[in-house]
Amino acid sequence: MLSNFKVVLVETSHPGNIGAVARAMKNMNMNQLRLVTPKHFPHADATARASGADDVLKHASVHDTLQDAIADCQIVLGASARDRTISWPSFTARECAEKWVNDPQKANIALVFGRENSGLKNHELDLCHFLLRIPCNQEYSSLNLAAAVQVVCYELFIASGQQLVSEIGDQGEDPLASAEQMEGFYQHLQQTIADIGFLQPERSKSIMRRLRRIFNRTQLDTKELDILRGILRFSQNHNTKN
Ligand code: SAH
Repeated sequence: MLSNFKVVLVETSHPGNIGAVARAMKNMNMNQLRLVTPKHFPHADATARASGADDVLKHASVHDTLQDAIADCQIVLGASARDRTISWPSFTARECAEKWVNDPQKANIALVFGRENSGLKNHELDLCHFLLRIPCNQEYSSLNLAAAVQVVCYELFIASGQQLVSEIGDQGEDPLASAEQMEGFYQHLQQTIADIGFLQPERSKSIMRRLRRIFNRTQLDTKELDILRGILRFSQNHNTKN
């Protein structure tokens, strides 16, 4: 949970966008939402668009000023689509994620998003340490508020390594085959394809090298290896019977 990151929305007009932001955050395992003088909140449209992320809405805090919303944050990042006349130090969403997600100090970090129609005002950016940009089409660079929050939260999620948990989960319960088990399989494979007459000795080295490359790429688990060895045994038996 990236709980040191606080999503701060400034004067959001459409309550539906607040709900969509809550949903975008929860998808990325984030839940710290702060609202500065929202036009309408709480609101049925916010709850409807949150679509199951109402817990994020319920815990959202409402503030009278941006200063108050960021008071406990050590780093304040202002998300802006616009090029500013004064150049502010800026990072892309990915750079921000790489820079701050694994920061050992675990500073509280505010991610400040502006109004749908006019973004953040310069006096609000004065409170920010850096600008946060989502790189996109330069001629059409303003994302919908919730879409912008989604991209930023996604980058934080990826940088925090949380996607690895589900990748490992997808692999099933069987452990990956060890180098020794794979070696046993390659010997068995080589023997079998020689027995069935597929492998001629002069080509055996390069064919076996290619076969190793194929199987090493796939990261077999022990159950899968058992199946393959079963097939090899079966084809050897079949071959000797005929
Ligand atoms: N029309 C506004 C943009 C509104 S979009 C303007 O002129 O600034 C609402 C908010 O989403 C913006 O204030 C900003 O915080 C965020 N946002 C939208 N597109 C973005 C982008 N490309 N990079 C960073 N933040 C963006």
